[in-house]
Amino acid sequence: MSFLPRRRPARSIHLVVDPIACDGHGVCAELFPERIGRDPWGFPVIDPAAVPGGLLEHAQRAVDACPRLALHLVSRDAGEDAAPGPRAVSGGAAGRRLARGAAPTP
Ligand code: SF4
Repeated sequence: MSFLPRRRPARSIHLVVDPIACDGHGVCAELFPERIGRDPWGFPVIDPAAVPGGLLEHAQRAVDACPRLALHLVSRDAGEDAAPGPRAVSGGAAGRRLARGAAPTP
């Protein structure tokens, strides 16, 4: 048994889309082409890489503009797979803090 304090894993911010809610307006791809492409049917193709701090404001703008509330910024542990339930941080004040460059909270 170890009594050393556990270190919190580094966290990163990622864009995710809810494919059920998304209806392919494409607004997000127009606002954030650095990380969002479009498939042949107009639905977003999201770059799974972490959104760097310098692009968070643009990412948040795309999230805020989604008419279906289908696009989210999520905080993940470094190295965490996309599948196991990321925590959404895009809504409300937390997302706006991230867009301003505040460190994500665990
Ligand atoms: S803006 Fe929203 S609804 Fe439109 S393509 Fe992007 S995620 Fe889908």
